[in-house]
Amino acid sequence: MTSELRSLYQEIILDHNKSPRNFRKLSDANRTVVGYNPLCGDHYTLYVRTEDDIIKDIGFQGSGCAISKASASVMTTIVKGKTHAEAEKLFEMFHKLVTGELSGAIDAEELGKLAAFSGVSEFPARVKCASLVWHTLSNALQEKSETVTTE
Ligand code: ZN
Repeated sequence: MTSELRSLYQEIILDHNKSPRNFRKLSDANRTVVGYNPLCGDHYTLYVRTEDDIIKDIGFQGSGCAISKASASVMTTIVKGKTHAEAEKLFEMFHKLVTGELSGAIDAEELGKLAAFSGVSEFPARVKCASLVWHTLSNALQEKSETVTTE
């Protein structure tokens, strides 16, 4: 990774951590799932409104480290308007990205801002921080309402 790319990615993460998008409770959510990463203390509630298999609206609240919050923020901006299957596919891709399985073959266009988290693969302890809200979303889409923990 070039140093310019690295600093661009860092900027995206810092920006989403400082001003998280969709950081709100949805009063009309039909799926609400809590995600908790005890290793780091990341703790979020994800609110999703789905309709006809499409994520119509999504929001989250809670607190945690910069990586987890930025990941939640970027995720909400990316999955809104997507079908459940599309969101699951993005999660699969994101998981490969943060675990380093995508290295060398990153399709920046398809990944968009998710690519900002590619550096996470160098810090295995942070993988759970980055993927927590994605696991939480996956459960929400599958109508599993129990709290998601990374343990
Ligand atoms: Zn964390």
